[in-house]
Amino acid sequence: MTQIAKILLTLPLNDAFDYEAPEDVHIGDIVKVPFGKKTELGLVWATGQKTTLAPKKLKSVIQVFPHPLKPTLIEFIKWVASYNLAPLGLVLKMVLCAKDIFNTSDVPPRFRLTGKTLAEAKLKNSDARWHVIDLLKHAPYTKAEIMAGTGVSQSVIKTLTEAGIIEPFAAPKALKSTQTFDFEKGKIILNDEQQAAADFLSSKQTKGFQVTLLDGVTGSGKTEVYLEAAISALKQNKQVLILVPEIALSTQWLKRFENRFGVKPYEWHSALTLSERRKTWQAVIENRAKILVGARSALFLPFADLSLIIVDESHDPTFKQEDMVNYQARDMAVVRAKCENIPLILSTATPDLETIVNVETGKYDTVCLKSRYACALMPDIKIIDLKKDKPQKGDWGTSWLSPPLIEALRQNLDKGEQSMLFLNRRGFAPLMICRDCGHRLQCPNCSAWLTEHRSIGKLICHHCGYNVVIPSACPECGSQDGLTACGPGVERIAHEVKARFPQAKTEIISSDTATSLSAISDVIARMQNRQIDILIGTQILAKGHHFPLLTLVGIVDADLGLMGSDLRAQEQTFQLLSQVSGRAGRGDKKGDVYLQTLYPDNKVLNAIVHQDRSAFLEQEQTTRQMLFLPPFGKLAAVIVSSSSEDAAQKAAYLLAKHAPHMSGVTLLGPAPAPIYMLRSKFRYRLLLKTLKTINIQSVIKTWLHGLDFASNVKVEVDIDPYSFM
Ligand code: ADP
Ligand code: ZN
Ligand code: ZN
Repeated sequence: MTQIAKILLTLPLNDAFDYEAPEDVHIGDIVKVPFGKKTELGLVWATGQKTTLAPKKLKSVIQVFPHPLKPTLIEFIKWVASYNLAPLGLVLKMVLCAKDIFNTSDVPPRFRLTGKTLAEAKLKNSDARWHVIDLLKHAPYTKAEIMAGTGVSQSVIKTLTEAGIIEPFAAPKALKSTQTFDFEKGKIILNDEQQAAADFLSSKQTKGFQVTLLDGVTGSGKTEVYLEAAISALKQNKQVLILVPEIALSTQWLKRFENRFGVKPYEWHSALTLSERRKTWQAVIENRAKILVGARSALFLPFADLSLIIVDESHDPTFKQEDMVNYQARDMAVVRAKCENIPLILSTATPDLETIVNVETGKYDTVCLKSRYACALMPDIKIIDLKKDKPQKGDWGTSWLSPPLIEALRQNLDKGEQSMLFLNRRGFAPLMICRDCGHRLQCPNCSAWLTEHRSIGKLICHHCGYNVVIPSACPECGSQDGLTACGPGVERIAHEVKARFPQAKTEIISSDTATSLSAISDVIARMQNRQIDILIGTQILAKGHHFPLLTLVGIVDADLGLMGSDLRAQEQTFQLLSQVSGRAGRGDKKGDVYLQTLYPDNKVLNAIVHQDRSAFLEQEQTTRQMLFLPPFGKLAAVIVSSSSEDAAQKAAYLLAKHAPHMSGVTLLGPAPAPIYMLRSKFRYRLLLKTLKTINIQSVIKTWLHGLDFASNVKVEVDIDPYSFM
């Protein structure tokens, strides 16, 4: 017996399709169905339906996966789609995010002969075909082995398989083990403050949904404490999810976990291979993976028995995704925890204002770690006024380091201690300009300057990846020696450091040098083994790493993030610089931090110097409250883009013409986006601002409903945007 089921596919659609399905499928079953010429994964959305499709057009479900999605996860999918105004199918795609989930063997299938001959299959004799048949007479082999053994191409194997002369057969299933832990292995003795925090968090384990902020300065032992809380969940044989910013997922974190529990956690990040993704996904839904640490996308994994979510470095702006589905993973983690009715821990030294306000209003609970672990002291932070202590030119060219910072670096080198210089800019220089005609080298696809990457002799666009060899003459006026680098990137700082301290072991770390998690781990290991004296890097440096011998941190341009007009520019600068400063003096020696600035009176910088987080937050809160900005009001961006400038503009005006008119709702724009052209698309932005009491999603839905945009126009909604570019 069969029935008609509505199946939601992993496509950018809200509607489910009708399929013929076995009688015993239920809502939440994962199925494989034909779609066009391909097969797609889908989710049974409704059963026992009637269809208007002609019987001939109705296709059938091919296969049903043995483990369904839980109702709590389906509720989560619906919530995420409706909150972020994303198609249900795309959110489902984030859940069914592994390829080939029906494949349950850990080894590729081997091929054997069926007994059918070439003649019977009406296939011509060819050497290639004979080689394969000959080989398989002796024993079955995998596709790769056949290709290696006979030198034939994939297509020969495909033809023989399709003709039924050879057939694949799955290898016997490997025994699948459940992750087990040795809780005593790396057990550490928590100090009183830590133990109290861990007990408090563990006590939440039986109380259903509740968010707790684990608030502690860098180096106070937050990781140790939340791992203790995880243990109480694991001891009940339940699953735990730890979300971290992708970059923090280095071997350092994983090693630490392994030392503690004698086993590796399951991992989820962009560097996994397809088969690692599939195996992890299966282990999660089959409840064999008990603890998983992952980047934001791990939030959508189909946990069978999730009982605790931890968001580490919860303030980190990279939890906001701006691709496919725009969502803030920290906020969605709260939703997931609510759907699953389980506790959530947000761990950070620099909570964002949203979290702070939720604590103040009693929505979230909080527990504090006030001091660094053992005798590690907070570093001394000092401001260097660049107007007074001007960097002095040297024979290598312009200087970016002031005399006091250079002196501190020298002393630290003499003492044999490690230093770190932070500048959040990749490459050698952010801009090349011609001194003779003023021409600036720009990306042909974006409204952005090209960054000089001298070490590889290229100019690169950081928005679209466009790159060219650095020209020897100005492309505008032909001047041979006019092109000049403007401003510093980390490469240029390294250049200066090497010129000033030729004896020091210097290294750069940025997303250009650390192109994989293992490359990052290598640098971190060299740093820990004292093979580096001065490490120069971008924000990659800031995340969670623990360098006990690092005692000096120099922030080359503390003003860099402050000038942005973005809603969160100040907050993110405060967080980033506090995190970077927090790298200093984590061992038994006190650390020093120097902030180079042109604005020594700036309030944000002074809050960092005095390590006065509440002063900063108070000021930030007042400003946002006054302007009804999040979390005291709501924002949503609507971004229009098209390869046709005219079409983009028309769509923007169409949106403006139908703008919602109601009290408590303000529309800013349309205006050309600050990055007007991005990857060859012209862009306009509109920003909708509403009071907190207004359902901004429904305002937008009503607004966009029925508007007819040209087919070459993309209209994207970003609820609570982080980027305004
Ligand atoms: P945070 O996450 O707050 O930055 P960590 O958990 O990374 O702090 O702790 C900082 C360092 O101190 C780590 O190397 C950690 O292993 C160590 N540490 C913290 N608490 C203890 C403890 N109770 N016993 C031993 N080592 C500890
Ligand atoms: Zn020129
Ligand atoms: Zn570009």
